[in-house]
Amino acid sequence: MAEDGTRTEAGGGGGPLPERDILEGFDRLIAADRLFGADLDSSNLKKSGKGTPFLVRRHPSHHRMLAHWRELFANRVTPQGLLDALAPEVLGLVHGDGLLLFGKERVLYDCQIVRGQEAVGHLTLSFYREREPVFRFLPFPRRPGRRIVYIEGISLSSQSTGYASSLFRHYERLFHGLGFHRFRLKASLSVGKYYWAKEGFDCEDRVQFREMREKLLALVRNLGLPVEEQEVRRLNHASMVATFRRDLQVPVYRNEDGYYATARDARHSEEFRFPLGKAFLLCADPWDGYKVIYTDTPRRTGLVWSEGYLDHESRPGHPESPKRLEALENAIREEGMRESLIFLEPYIPAMESLHAVHDPAYLEAFRQAVARGDRHFAVRDCAISEGSYEAALLAAGGVMAGIDAVLSDRADNAFCAVRPPGHHAGRSSAMGFCFVNNVAAGALYARSAYGVERIYILDWDVHHGNGTQALFDEDPLTFFCSLHEHPSFCYPGTGRRLEKGRGAGLGATLNVPLSPHAGDRELLEAFEREVVPSIEAFRPGLILLSAGFDAHRDDPIAGLECTEAAYVHMTRRILELADRHCEGRVVSVLEGGYRTESLVSSAIAHIKTLQGREGSPCSSARG
Ligand SMILES: [Zn+2]
Repeated sequence: MAEDGTRTEAGGGGGPLPERDILEGFDRLIAADRLFGADLDSSNLKKSGKGTPFLVRRHPSHHRMLAHWRELFANRVTPQGLLDALAPEVLGLVHGDGLLLFGKERVLYDCQIVRGQEAVGHLTLSFYREREPVFRFLPFPRRPGRRIVYIEGISLSSQSTGYASSLFRHYERLFHGLGFHRFRLKASLSVGKYYWAKEGFDCEDRVQFREMREKLLALVRNLGLPVEEQEVRRLNHASMVATFRRDLQVPVYRNEDGYYATARDARHSEEFRFPLGKAFLLCADPWDGYKVIYTDTPRRTGLVWSEGYLDHESRPGHPESPKRLEALENAIREEGMRESLIFLEPYIPAMESLHAVHDPAYLEAFRQAVARGDRHFAVRDCAISEGSYEAALLAAGGVMAGIDAVLSDRADNAFCAVRPPGHHAGRSSAMGFCFVNNVAAGALYARSAYGVERIYILDWDVHHGNGTQALFDEDPLTFFCSLHEHPSFCYPGTGRRLEKGRGAGLGATLNVPLSPHAGDRELLEAFEREVVPSIEAFRPGLILLSAGFDAHRDDPIAGLECTEAAYVHMTRRILELADRHCEGRVVSVLEGGYRTESLVSSAIAHIKTLQGREGSPCSSARG
């Protein structure tokens, strides 16, 4: 692979490559019309998408190009090696027409992003080395400072959700390996329908970081705000940036390069009102990040959501439609909940982590069915469209993003508003609108990535979570409990009391079937009588919820008659149990719920209860 090639070139023997190799590399790219000079207008560059950001010229002299190369890349990579490494295939997208452009102070990489034969986007990076004064108070002489990669611009069509996150993760490793100190978004960027926060405070070292933090804390203390300070291990993509409480603003001062400081000085002179609700991003080391965040609910609840989940389309009249999530998203906005939720961005997971759940051949068959343009996969009720494969992977990655946030304590708990749902999907089987078992993928990820040993999955979707049950049938450390309408009356026809797990997992499965027309009273009695004691006895390190809302009395697809009150009660009790056993760690994953109104009202009540508000006299809620 290109990346490994670069590593070998970069790291092999530790020393720089011979200059002759670099010069030959320039000549080959010049002959192939892939290397030019460029006149840059940095003010123009910031306006991504407006006009031509640079004028392409004949390449500068070899002497100058070599001087650039030495300073930026320390001759650790050849020009072709760099082009190869910058253009990995990610999610079926490749780079076309990749060019290297030598400007006065920087080297640019410019390319089209291509799917098949079609250009679906555009990317421009610039490699730059800061100059810093040798003497602190004199502008000259100057010596080379930090190496920085700027994303000057990226645009992508909406079908490419997850691409930028995956590409930037690859780039982070690559640039770190090449000796760069920073990888920065130059300005606010629209990545498809994503919006990446642009404001941040950069700090050059830990001392400066601590000073900045003190100032920030003083600032929020003066404003009388409760502040949660979060340290995150790595700042790798926008999921680390939370936005809420935009109404609170503090004055900040911007310099010419678009960096901000909390106090005015000679360089930082332009005053702005900075929304405090935007998380403060503080970089102490080039690849570490810190942020200070604020929320006004008793618990910090993360919300996983992506427009990418709407790209999975079913056929007209199919109950599992994108409208479900559109309506939920609208309601979250209308309820004014956006400000108090920590938005978490899902990502496309590594295939290995999905192979822990599903047969690779099964996932490949699913991918191919989508690529062929099939209308359904495996069974007729599993309708698919062009965006289904990516949406399904993103749904599993959404649960992982929720787990990341909760287990790294960026959120107390999380609700993952994902689709397609997952709890009917088995190791090699799609059924019941499900393709990838999201909650199972999350459980195995929590175990492999964070070492969580004992995981309790409660599935209160009205349908039995047969896929999840089968995946953990023999696993004594993953307890699966399902509350559902009795299998004699309801899809998928499994989930009888006799199903209690197998082998070593015997006893770690609990099925609680309910009679048709059972309502809140019957459900909650069973919940208190059987589910609560089983959680107490199991002592989980993490609780996952397969939260379908189709047991609601208005839901058309099954026969239970529950209300929002049942979901509120169960949520509150689960939080109490989680407080007792696992520091409140609950990650809730949307499954079914097919009447838009009842899905939305139930999910909103559930999320508000996760936040510790909305008729939630939960004594153990932490403030
Ligand atoms: Zn269901």
